[in-house]
Amino acid sequence: MSWTNSKNTDLVERAQAVIPMGMYGHQSVLLLPDDYPQFFRRAKGVHLWDVDGNRYLDFLCGYGPNLFGYGDPEIDDAYIAQLREGDTMTGPGEVMVELAEAMVGLIAHADWAMFCKNGTDATTMALMIARNHTGRNTVVLARGAYHGAAPWCTPLKKGVAPGDRANQVFYDYNDVESLEAAVREAGDDLAAIFASPIKHDTFVDQELPDPAYARRARELCDERGALLIVDDVRAGFRLARDSSWSLVGVKPDLSSWGKAIANGHPISALLGADICRMAAATIYATGSYWFSAAPMAAALKTLARIRDTDYLERTQALGRRLREGLDESAARHGLALRQTGPAELPLIMVDDDPTLAKGYFWTQALMKRGVYFHPWHNMFICAAMTEADIDFAVEAADEAFKLLKAAGPLEAPAKLGFMNQMLDH
Ligand SMILES: *Cc1c(COP(=O)(O)O)cnc(C)c1O
Repeated sequence: MSWTNSKNTDLVERAQAVIPMGMYGHQSVLLLPDDYPQFFRRAKGVHLWDVDGNRYLDFLCGYGPNLFGYGDPEIDDAYIAQLREGDTMTGPGEVMVELAEAMVGLIAHADWAMFCKNGTDATTMALMIARNHTGRNTVVLARGAYHGAAPWCTPLKKGVAPGDRANQVFYDYNDVESLEAAVREAGDDLAAIFASPIKHDTFVDQELPDPAYARRARELCDERGALLIVDDVRAGFRLARDSSWSLVGVKPDLSSWGKAIANGHPISALLGADICRMAAATIYATGSYWFSAAPMAAALKTLARIRDTDYLERTQALGRRLREGLDESAARHGLALRQTGPAELPLIMVDDDPTLAKGYFWTQALMKRGVYFHPWHNMFICAAMTEADIDFAVEAADEAFKLLKAAGPLEAPAKLGFMNQMLDH
């Protein structure tokens, strides 16, 4: 099949002149299979169109923000109405109070809310509040977990001073003994334990939280007067209508939110319990766009949809349909997938593929059939998807498996060598 990417290729060339390496961060296609488009023209519902007009059924959902479909009319109308009335002003709109009430009403552990722009803002505030609350410095984090792109947490070492990473001790997710050892090492300086709601690290299988691990994290914080922080920026509202750790019966003191909470409009949030209300009030936290009213209006509408519809059960059912369809298709071709984590937040890797060569081949073949998958990052089921969308993806995957089976031995993707130089592992 022919593949024309001319407009995209042209833009990539122009970008290389005026944007470092043409693109940076998580949306750079530098580490994706060949021919993944870098630039897009349009997004509507569950579809993306690249600048050359090719359409994709999108399982990345903007890397998380797209929960109810791109350009959802009701949510965007709320955004536009507030935009016309007043957005970035000298002070916040009344919608800020309404949104804080809605978040606190939905999330059982939360007594208060603060709003910001990016997930990194929220996780960084959580870190500062825990230190302010305890008067201690050391935080205990899961090895390999992503908490944002600030010097204290970015996964790349470049530009980071050793001091930026001071006062951090690491444990292995779901491993109670290693958590206990990290807490012992922190000693009487423990300010907080950070936890991802599920293990959703890149390149490795996802893991659901072992309830014993989550409960132990809570106990260790209680014993030592430290705060438990759950970073729900990615999984928030994808797994539950409450904190994701409500599923294991553990309440954090602080939780960070972002991505899906306003269906793509720029806003994030930090929620907290009364115990650290004063500590939250006395850090200096602000930003020029943190109080913009229009994204808050979009978030308020998104929360109402979360509270009042069966979106969660539907996305879970669609996720299971995808998982089962892909497993059956792989088996028909004598192949196997490793599909890990919750079906509605799937990580899908080809089994027996240490170099990722098969995964790169398979996802590239899917992309050329109009299905946007990722070879090593978890994906998202959009609530606007239908069973027909899932079946379309499974059919494309079936054709891609057939090609993979016929391809024989494959060489390791050259791009990954570059990545190993950049990554901190
Ligand atoms: C994306 C993400 C962040 C950072 O959010 P940004 O909006 O990109 O700053 C933090 N934690 C987790 C778990 C994330 O997935």
